[in-house]
Amino acid sequence: MIANIIVDVPSRQTDRPFDYKVPKSLQPWIELGSRVGVPFGPRVLQGVVVGLAEESEYDHSKLKPIKELLDPEPPLLPDLIELSKWLSEKYCCSRIAALQIMLPSALKGKEVKYIALSGAEQEQAYANSAWLQALRQEDGAIKLEKLMAMFPEEHRSIKQALQQGLLTLSGKVKDRTGIKQVRMVLPPADPEAAREQLAALKKQARKQYEVLSYLLEHPEPIALAQLVAKLNTSSSVVQGLAGKELVRIEDVEQKRDPYRHRQFEPSSPLPLTELQRHVYERIVKEMERKSGQTMLLHGVTGSGKTEVYLQSIAQCLDSNRQAIVLVPEISLTPQMVERFKSRFGDAVAVMHSRLSDGERYDEWRKIRHGQARVVVGARSAIFAPFSSIGLIIIDEEHESSYKQDETPKYHARDVAVRRAKQHGAVVLLGSATPSLETFVAASRIPKGAAEAPLLSMPERVAGQAMPTVHIIDMRQELTQGNRSMFSSALYEALKQRLERQEQTVLLLNRRGYSTFVMCRSCGYTASCPHCDISLTYHQKTRLLRCHYCGHAEQEPKQCPQCESEHIRFFGTGTQKVEEELAKLFPGIRVIRMDVDTTTEKNAHEKLLKTFSERKADVLLGTQMVAKGLDFPYVTLVGVIAADTTLNLPDFRAAERTFQLLTQVAGRAGRHHLQGEVMIQTYNPEHYAVQAAAQHHYEQFIQQELELRMGMMYPPYCRLICITMSAERLDQLAEVSTRFVNELKEIAQYEGVLVPLQSRMARAMEILGPVASPLARIKDRYRYQCVIKYRGSIDASTLVERAMEPFVAGKTSKQVLFSVDVDPQVIV
Ligand code: ADP
Ligand code: ZN
Ligand code: ZN
Repeated sequence: MIANIIVDVPSRQTDRPFDYKVPKSLQPWIELGSRVGVPFGPRVLQGVVVGLAEESEYDHSKLKPIKELLDPEPPLLPDLIELSKWLSEKYCCSRIAALQIMLPSALKGKEVKYIALSGAEQEQAYANSAWLQALRQEDGAIKLEKLMAMFPEEHRSIKQALQQGLLTLSGKVKDRTGIKQVRMVLPPADPEAAREQLAALKKQARKQYEVLSYLLEHPEPIALAQLVAKLNTSSSVVQGLAGKELVRIEDVEQKRDPYRHRQFEPSSPLPLTELQRHVYERIVKEMERKSGQTMLLHGVTGSGKTEVYLQSIAQCLDSNRQAIVLVPEISLTPQMVERFKSRFGDAVAVMHSRLSDGERYDEWRKIRHGQARVVVGARSAIFAPFSSIGLIIIDEEHESSYKQDETPKYHARDVAVRRAKQHGAVVLLGSATPSLETFVAASRIPKGAAEAPLLSMPERVAGQAMPTVHIIDMRQELTQGNRSMFSSALYEALKQRLERQEQTVLLLNRRGYSTFVMCRSCGYTASCPHCDISLTYHQKTRLLRCHYCGHAEQEPKQCPQCESEHIRFFGTGTQKVEEELAKLFPGIRVIRMDVDTTTEKNAHEKLLKTFSERKADVLLGTQMVAKGLDFPYVTLVGVIAADTTLNLPDFRAAERTFQLLTQVAGRAGRHHLQGEVMIQTYNPEHYAVQAAAQHHYEQFIQQELELRMGMMYPPYCRLICITMSAERLDQLAEVSTRFVNELKEIAQYEGVLVPLQSRMARAMEILGPVASPLARIKDRYRYQCVIKYRGSIDASTLVERAMEPFVAGKTSKQVLFSVDVDPQVIV
């Protein structure tokens, strides 16, 4: 037996499967997706089995054997193995990088693992198995490697016991990420018999009597520690009862459920509105067809999309398939999680970046072992190891956080579409402001279908009006002598909410790095000595920091260039708004939510909870406050400056502004109280601002599509951005020019190097090399080459081919290449 293995070596020459022999004792254990240790050169490295074969095209006698198997069950399923191939080809990354993002980080370590008993003794099914005897003799735990070698014939029952949680894997990682065990007390197996003993115990062993009668009254398993504390007794008392076989004590694996402290009220499906029903029925029909179709649910904020998700998922589970729900990281609030948990209870696994490695691993195992059938998570939950997916939902599909900005730079939406094809699942993209790419794609009628996969819900559920939006021209405020960051209209509106005890959400549409330092005499701005970017002022530490490389320096007292003392901090950070609010409205209770106040674990949740309990008047924050929140007493939403995203040097700037304004406006007046929105801006005529104020998506995209067409940007073409970086500028210039020439030659040879405006079905333009917008990071200069193309061109492969001589040769150490396929931002 031969295994094809992708080995964990970060080098392009070794980015292909290698053949290894599978030793006889490991043969029953090795499967597609198994993680193994293999000899590679002088070392033993980790690898993943991506193929199994009888034969190898290489000389068998020269093949080395697999040294060890790292997990008794393969952590990756065959469909994920196949997906990794697609990922690496599409996003120009190594196969091992593609495989590794699918594994929970707790599995990446190489700790010695043990298999341990955690209940199998009690199971009749395993009573006669040899491995159980062996485990008992070894105090309940045997090294994984050893157990596998001892019982190759029993791999099925061992794997089964692992899945049932009767055996567990544990290791040195135990405390950090391994499995937690709790000692549980189980109530009497035969309550009648136990009851008969009560009278006798009452006389002889009063304490045992108390415990037993408690357990007879409360016949649920309870943790030993909890029982002891509750009855104010000792564990030896309980053990005494166990000795008499009146109760049982067992070590049970405890999954660290991050939501264990919370109670979820069960909720039942709401009767759907006409619009919801129509949409729901189309989704269900498509699921039944197993077409692998992608659909867009375009529904205004508050149109009841989430309820449609929930009922579609219920349908999906009923047909014995699983569902993946992706939401943007910052919307993974307790509010969102609660809606899924209360509908589907323990069938829901939750995955987000604030979980510890151990918690993440537990959630992952619930999915892998079929205990969870729905996962709600951020981007990477798209790789959940489900075996039969029926539905993949991506909420707020336009969010840029679905794109990973490190290698592999994948977009969860595109991965979803691909995975859905493998499973015949439906992808449901939901948004009030769909990305242009998605909207255009969903407007086309697919071959053989009667309708376009575009579902829309243009009204709010209970017919609540969309909030009234006022656009406030800040230039006029200035001419009227108002230099404050609040217009008089916003000031009045805020004052009114305070009087009425209603709540306000204030959005400051910019992040920390807008607080830069500038000299008013000479115009000097403090910038990073290693990167071409302004430094950011952090009030707490009084330091200037670089957001790219972490460089920090003291705040300047005078201008380093002209020695003037008129050097000051510009821009309105959230802190400044907070200060101003306190000045204008003494006693106002403000919750500030930004990167500084949400670094601690669960900080985000705590702040929102306080706000929902109406213990604050204003929720002030960055983008974080715009998404998915639903508070009945919020009747005012204020946007302090709409312009900051408008002015970004990015062809999506208008789209992002429109989306953000629409999102945040949707937070107001979601329930019985009517909402009002105030957008302050220096560009009141801008079509993105105007369309958002009128809640008019179509109007916005018509204008935006025309502009994109004129400049040839997505959705009329696709982009790839290749960034090259080096310490020496001359070398960078030389290599990047050669690379671009190489790429042009290849494109020319393929007959696709023609202007996009031409009538050819396939066209490609290659721009650059030019200095990147961020021309230097961490002392490395950066050049970029942008490819625009349309038609069925496998552009990733062309890029890969053009890069080959550069990344394999000597220059590879000095000039680094980084490829971003379908970039969300070009930096
Ligand atoms: P969206 O996700 O589109 O912003 P939600 O799903 O959050 O909208 O729905 C908005 C509000 O309407 C929620 O409070 C939700 O409970 C309620 N809702 C949704 N569907 C129904 C329905 N069919 N009947 C009554 N209330 C509903
Ligand atoms: Zn100066
Ligand atoms: Zn820097």
